[in-house]
Parts: sequence; C-alpha cells; structure tokens
Amino acid sequence: MPAKKYAALPPGVTAEQFARAVEKFRDIVGHDNVVTAPEIIASYTKLMIPESEDKHMPPGALMPKTTEEVQKIVAVCNEFKIPVWPISTGRNFGYGSAAPAKSGTMVLDLRRMNRIIEVNVDLGYALVEAGVTYKQLADYIKEHDLPLWLDTPMPAPVASPTGNTLDRGVGYTPYGEHFFFQCGMEVVLANGEVLRTGMGALENSNTWQVFKWGYGPYLDGIFTQSNYGIVTKMGFWLMHKPPAYKPFLVKYPNEEDIVTAIDTIRPLRLNQIITNAGTVSNSLWELAVTEKREDLYDGPGQIPDDLVAAAARRKGYGAWNVYAALYGTPEQVELNWRMVKGAFEASGGDVLTEEDADPDDPLWKYRVDMMSGTLSMREFSLYNYRGGGGSTWFAPVSQAMGSETLRQMRLAKRILGEFGLDYVALFIIGWRDMHHIIDMLYDRTIPAEMQAAYDCYDKLLHEFAAEGYGIYRTSTAFMDKTAAIYGKVKHDVNVALKRALDPNGIIAPGKSGIDI
Ligand code: ADP
Repeated sequence: MPAKKYAALPPGVTAEQFARAVEKFRDIVGHDNVVTAPEIIASYTKLMIPESEDKHMPPGALMPKTTEEVQKIVAVCNEFKIPVWPISTGRNFGYGSAAPAKSGTMVLDLRRMNRIIEVNVDLGYALVEAGVTYKQLADYIKEHDLPLWLDTPMPAPVASPTGNTLDRGVGYTPYGEHFFFQCGMEVVLANGEVLRTGMGALENSNTWQVFKWGYGPYLDGIFTQSNYGIVTKMGFWLMHKPPAYKPFLVKYPNEEDIVTAIDTIRPLRLNQIITNAGTVSNSLWELAVTEKREDLYDGPGQIPDDLVAAAARRKGYGAWNVYAALYGTPEQVELNWRMVKGAFEASGGDVLTEEDADPDDPLWKYRVDMMSGTLSMREFSLYNYRGGGGSTWFAPVSQAMGSETLRQMRLAKRILGEFGLDYVALFIIGWRDMHHIIDMLYDRTIPAEMQAAYDCYDKLLHEFAAEGYGIYRTSTAFMDKTAAIYGKVKHDVNVALKRALDPNGIIAPGKSGIDI
C-alpha cells in the first residue's frame, strides 16, 4: 500500500482539491515554503498536552514572507475552504505548541516574517513582524547597546513577543502583563484586507506605537485569544533599563504562610512600591526545577507532603518562595527597600538579597535573570522532573488575597491527588489579581497517565468553575470546555463576530472554542 500522501485533509475537501490549492499556495510563497510531507508535518505536532497527535493533525504548513503573501493565501483559503492556524513561533508549550485545535487545519507558520521594523529608544517601544523571537530582539538590543529591557515568558529565547502577547502570556518585570504593554497591530482579515489598529489607521501617523486606543471601539483585544485575523505586525513597549535593580527572595517555612505572604505583597504591589510581576512558588516547584521525581519518591499517587517538606528543608527552600524586585534610582530603591524588608520580616519571612543569596544557586539566578528581562531556559528543567514530555498548565485567576490562595491551593491539590499528580505551583502577582500557575507534569508515553492528566484537568476546570474561578488561558485540548464555562452570551457574541469577520471560518477554527 502506498504511503498516505497527506497526514490529514481539511473537512469537506478532497485530496485532488487540496493538491490544487497546494499548487496555488506554492505560486504565492514558493515551492519550498509549502510543506505537506507527513514526516515534515510531524515537527508541528510535537505535543505536551494530554491528547494524541491525531486530534491535532495539519495537512500541511505554509511559510509566507510578507503581509501581501498572507493576503493572497487568505484568498486561496476562501476559494477552497481551507482553514489555517497562524503561529508566530509555535512554542506555546503546554498549551498546544504549534499544532492546530482541529485536524485538517493547515499551519500558517509566520517564522519567516522576522523583520525587526523599529526599536525606538527614546519612546521605549518596538514594532516587529510576527515571527521575530525574543532572542532576536535581545541580540539586537545587545548589538546596538541599547538601554532597554525585554520582558520574557518562560520559553523566552525561542518564543515570540507576538505569539505570547496574542495568547495573553505573562512575564516577570514591571511589564509582565504583556497585553497591557502591546500598542498597535497590523492584521490581515479573512477577507484579505489589512487593518492597522489604533493610530496605525492614519496614513503617515507616528503615534501608532505610543497611543493604544485610536478612535472609536478599541479593537486590539478581539485579536487576542481569538481567530478573527492574522496578526502580521505588532507594536509593544519596552522598559528603559533602570539605574538600580534589586532582586530579592523571601522564604516562608509553612504552607499556610501563603496567606501572610500575599497579604504582605498586595499593598506594596498596589501602591507601586514593588512594581514587577513577582512570583510566589511552592517548594515542589523549586524542587521540580532542580530534582527528578524518582529521586524523591517512587511510590504510588501524589508525592506525600512530608517527603516534599523534608527535601525542601535539605535544600534550604521555603514552603513558599517570593521572588520580586525593586527598580528605580539607587536612592528610590534604597528608601523602598527599607520599607519592603521591614514588611516581609514582620510577616515572618526570611529575606535574602544579592548580598546573602548564593550566586550559583540556579533558582536564584534564573529569577534574577527573568525579572530583568534576561533570557533564560532554566525553568524548562521542570519537564525533567517527571519525564516523558507531558505538561499542561492549569492556571486559574485569583484575587490577590491570601485567603483566596489557600482555598485554591487546597482544591487543586486534592483534585491533583485523586489522579496521582503533584501540585507544582506558583502565583504570578498582578496588580489586583494573580495567575495561579499549576504545571501538571506527567509521562506522555504512558497512556494511563495521559488519560489521568486529561481527566484531572477536566475535573479541575469544572470544580474551579463551580467555585467561581476561571482560567486565563487554555490549551487546544480544552478550548471548547473552557469557552462553555464562560457562558452562552459570551460564546454567542464571539460567534457573531466570527461570522461577520470570517464567514467561511478559514482562520483557526476552534481557537478559544470559537467555530462556525
Ligand atoms: P509562542 O510565541 O509562544 O511560540 P505561538 O506562536 O505558539 O506563541 O502562538 C500562540 C498562539 O497565539 C497560537 O497558537 C495562535 O493561536 C495565536 N497566534 C500566534 N501568532 C499569531 C498571529 N500572528 N496571528 C494570530 N494568532 C496568532
């Protein structure tokens, strides 16, 4: 039997029709920039989420170089009813990576659209094409010796500001909530038109990257976590490198101390004394970055609390570990530090700064890097903790209140325990909210573990929703279920917008549960 020509086909499209469309795509982007060979397509389906690749199989991938090429691609997509899944770099690990929500959707890989169009030092912003990576920008900043800092998420070097911002990802400097700091987009709509949002709609405007709102309804938001357009360029603000930077760590000995920790941070954060998106990680997070699970525990079920506590004590980790920083002039930082140190000490925390932290401690070092926009891959070691390549993020939003966090922690830990999964968690501190980030780590090569991870996520999602807690983002495995939790009215509006903007449903069917 001859090998199958295509790994999948778009729904309702025959192999012959698809082959004709592929020829048209090749005329637009060049022969080598359209791939359909199943062995090459496999690179787009390396998943960490608890679902099999078959559910997310693209029939091919397209790699345009320009906005005009994207416009022409969209025309062919409409003609043949072929859907595409845009990715900037596809490093959305634990959320679906590069693979589409639904099989039969071609990957629109924007990695060749990688021009840094402008970096403006005076005004602190960048305008980039969708495929530009954080590493590219970091290299640019270094090469030109610019006094600017990036704000990067966990897979920083290989990921892109555009992809991360469009999925509303977060980082760890004062610019941590990426969508807050996004300013201006160029979007190819499903009808092939190019929309420039905000001030970009004006010919020759020089305010596209400095004023977010433009005139009339503010549209940028509808192109995030959505499938209403293909973003080809994005502007965003960059922080001026501050004259002084003081990272610090506060360790708390007991699990219940999360209450005190958060209630100590909140007023400091709200009043802009601590300005960055600091984190509060549990001891198992710290252990998971540095240890393998099998060296800590080889019994059944969730790792027992007493083992975690003993291992953390041996390594000197707190039950909860606050990593945050002060930024400003040396005088400001010194003044604020007295207040911050006093508050944390009064709350029973063990406060460490650069003077007393071990500079070779990998946990300290990677936080110091990430809170100052320096690229780091260190946190990737989380994936070695359990091994087997399974990771999916369950991330409920929480009020920045100590009492709330304890409630969420207990609920999450209990449900994870029912499925033999560990509670590896941190809170990222926003202004009034926190992202409660739980990395569900499991072995993808063991079918029962994969199933357990899926079922566990499902239960977490629904039990948290029953308590009034929603998640800020999800993977391609749970988009429909998450959308359902946000209710019918929201869903109907999402679908109405979809029908208006993309009547043939050619852009990212299923993204955030939106389909027609
Ligand atoms: P990362 O920067 O983490 O590699 P991805 O490229 O994987 O991010 O993008 C994350 C998600 O954001 C994608 O799965 C897709 O849904 C959406 N996305 C990414 N880039 C674009 C784009 N240029 N236009 C529209 N949606 C996009």
